[in-house]
Amino acid sequence: MKGMTILGSTGSIGGSTLDVLAQHAGEYRIVALTANQNVDRMLAQCQQFKPTYAVMMDADAATKLDYQLQKLSSETVVLSGIEGLCKVVALDETDYVMAAIVGAAGLQPTLAAARAGKRILLANKEALVMSGKLFMDEVKRHNAELLPIDSEHNAIFQCMPAEFAHDGRTDGVTKILLTASGGPFRTLPVADLNMVTPEQACAHPNWVMGRKISVDSASMMNKGLEVIEACWLFGISPEMIQVVIHPQSVIHSMVEYTDGSVLAQLGQPDMRTPIAHALAWPKRMRSGVERLDLFKIRHLDFEAPDLQRFPCLRLAYEAIRTGGTAPSILNAANEVAVQAFLDRLICFTDIPALSEHVLGQLVSSNADSLDSIIRVDNQSRELAQEYVKRLSTRQRRQMQ
Ligand code: NAD
Ligand code: MG
Repeated sequence: MKGMTILGSTGSIGGSTLDVLAQHAGEYRIVALTANQNVDRMLAQCQQFKPTYAVMMDADAATKLDYQLQKLSSETVVLSGIEGLCKVVALDETDYVMAAIVGAAGLQPTLAAARAGKRILLANKEALVMSGKLFMDEVKRHNAELLPIDSEHNAIFQCMPAEFAHDGRTDGVTKILLTASGGPFRTLPVADLNMVTPEQACAHPNWVMGRKISVDSASMMNKGLEVIEACWLFGISPEMIQVVIHPQSVIHSMVEYTDGSVLAQLGQPDMRTPIAHALAWPKRMRSGVERLDLFKIRHLDFEAPDLQRFPCLRLAYEAIRTGGTAPSILNAANEVAVQAFLDRLICFTDIPALSEHVLGQLVSSNADSLDSIIRVDNQSRELAQEYVKRLSTRQRRQMQ
């Protein structure tokens, strides 16, 4: 039996992971479930999956959860805060860690899982975008296993040579074709983009996901972060990655080889496939996902991304080419911008404007320690918050 800890169990990826695990109850034991504040969902998950530990990042939420669990005479031990998260990933009983916290908040516990030499199922792309080389070095040093959950990276992993050497050129790989749906605003007139609402941005045509990644998909910052993620995961340069808009989301990405072969992985847009793949790897197991019916799909379309419509993609390429802490700066600015857009303080087109502004204000430095990365993350957030204040004052004035 493998011991499983899920960081972010109350979220979209967390829920899909528990769904797959429930189909294989005899093979996995839930060691710990973790969340930020959602006590109700965590309580329900504790009742169903009976984890040894439940961790709430928020201390008040942990107190409430503990009270509710005691009333039910549950044996689950409740912990809180970043110490709780870092403790449960490193327990001897934990074999696999699903890293599915959203945003920079996932960096420390995911890094702790690497340092404890666990199998990491990585959904939390922001953690890798921020820590890049540091994270990959820790994985190697501590003999951890890193398996991508992001559907595109999981597809690439499946299409790469079995023992790829983290150097595309010697593996015969010439290009990675990273597919993107284009999100809900692929065909909207560019002039209307400043008017779109959070509800429209979160209504993704193919995937059901958390709100932050849904907005990132609409702005294509998600694809930009995925370009950076792919550079680190597969040890390749950004020049080797071509983003391809593929509105049906059936091909999840492709790898082109020097002999002209292009390998693709296809499947339903359902995260339970990459989750089951990474859990069972190198074997295969059932995921509960509906079979792909090519006769129903009939057409697969492809187009080049329009960088005028999606400036976030350009910014991400710029950040990874600059290197150092530039991807952290971009990631933090984007997180602040997305939250401000969801809170209706700024408009959708302010997201790239704000990210570009902050990226231009801070000089990239060495990203060789957790401290330096966190420092830059904080600086970037401060600048981004100031910019949000300016933008929202402007917006209020315009409305008067
Ligand atoms: P979500 O918003 O649905 O869930 C986020 C989870 O993280 C929740 O359990 C929440 O409680 C927890 N969390 C939030 N803030 C926290 C904090 N400060 N401290 C501790 N825990 C915190 O998000 P999601 O859609 O499941 O995405 C999770 C990650 O997976 C993201 O990095 C996203 O980019 C990536 N991802 C998601 C999908 C998808 O289909 N949803 C696909 C690919 C990659
Ligand atoms: Mg993805």
